[in-house]
Amino acid sequence: MPDNDREEKGFRLLDCNEASKHHFERAANKLKLKREFRDWLRNPFREIYVHLPVMMDDGSLKMFEGFRVQHNNARGPYKGGTRYHPEVTLGDIRGLASWMTWKTALLGLPFGGAKGGVNCDAKNMSAAELERVTRKYTQAISADIGPYQDVPAPDVNTNENVMAWIMDEYSKLRGYSPAVVTGKPIDLGGSPGRIDATGRGVAYIVQQWALDNNIEMEKSGAVIQGFGNVGFHAAYHLDRLGCKVTAVSDTGGCIFKQEGLDVEAVYEHKEKTGSVKDFPGAETIDSEQIFSMDCDFLIPAALENAITKDNLGQIKTKAIFEAANGPTCPLVEPGLADKGITVVPDILTNSGGVVVSYFEWVQNLQQFTWSEDQVDSELQTKMKNAYRKVIDKAKEEKVNLRIAAYMIALEKVASAAKTRGVY
Ligand code: GLU
Repeated sequence: MPDNDREEKGFRLLDCNEASKHHFERAANKLKLKREFRDWLRNPFREIYVHLPVMMDDGSLKMFEGFRVQHNNARGPYKGGTRYHPEVTLGDIRGLASWMTWKTALLGLPFGGAKGGVNCDAKNMSAAELERVTRKYTQAISADIGPYQDVPAPDVNTNENVMAWIMDEYSKLRGYSPAVVTGKPIDLGGSPGRIDATGRGVAYIVQQWALDNNIEMEKSGAVIQGFGNVGFHAAYHLDRLGCKVTAVSDTGGCIFKQEGLDVEAVYEHKEKTGSVKDFPGAETIDSEQIFSMDCDFLIPAALENAITKDNLGQIKTKAIFEAANGPTCPLVEPGLADKGITVVPDILTNSGGVVVSYFEWVQNLQQFTWSEDQVDSELQTKMKNAYRKVIDKAKEEKVNLRIAAYMIALEKVASAAKTRGVY
């Protein structure tokens, strides 16, 4: 069914694959891409679906489903994170994989796009159980990943320990290969600055947008939904750049303080109690209330479909910076535009993670390590350049920032795919 028919019949949430298709088609229309070429660019090259029998700590055997979708490698090896979430579906992974293709192209990184996932409830599993799931998953996909083939990385509920297990398991099977995965611990070939790279990049994009819109960082306020790795580091770096973080939330609750939260103290509180809620000196309200907080910058940093028709009416911000992948349901974007709210798209805003993944991969291949300052300065250059290109394209083509970002990415991937040929 064409997008428009479905939209006219009413609102519903789109999964990542449908959301990705929605944006793709709009950019492809602007670029006047031929239908057969669209099908080639939009569909994944390979989808791996595996069943993983894993022994749990209590001696029971549990089956997990694992996915790895390799979307496009016209511009280089497949690249993208691995997500552990009980509700992850192949459809979501498919969409998330395509977002990686557009993200790496937009940033000019020599990679394609992929995404992986396992439907496990990582938050309620022991480290030993997670290690067994990770090793089983790595064995199952090992023939199709590799430093020049497909390079996984962290994503929702996966961290540097999970990356270390992937590296170790793959190396056992194929010989020592640190460049098979990024986001590793520093001691195993990880890069300085990788752990906070996504959040740091979010803060740089906010800073650029503020500059362009005559907003002084010192007089501005940000609100952040989600206080995991990305949300916390975005808060930390925004605070460092002078912006007050007035509210943050996680699944336990939302805390706010008009004078600005002490971000590191909130982090310590969450480490101790498991949630930001009841942070001393701030008020705790329901998680969902985060979207009704008045602010300059609203930063969804959790999962997809956070901003929907249910909270559209409450949102009071100048701009939304998509730190998560797909946090804005595409069907509410016209509503946001009507309210004068700019959406700075995920493939730009949260690209700091994969940019520093690229630096890590380069360091691994060259067996040469960079300083944190070098990583930071190269990250700033890449993100500011990409930001400027998106702003200029949007003006030139009279489209919003998302369509501009997609247009730049699609042109690059289309040109690489065409030049390489189909034979
Ligand atoms: N999971 C991150 C993302 O969605 C990072 C991917 C990577 O570093 O390959 O961009």
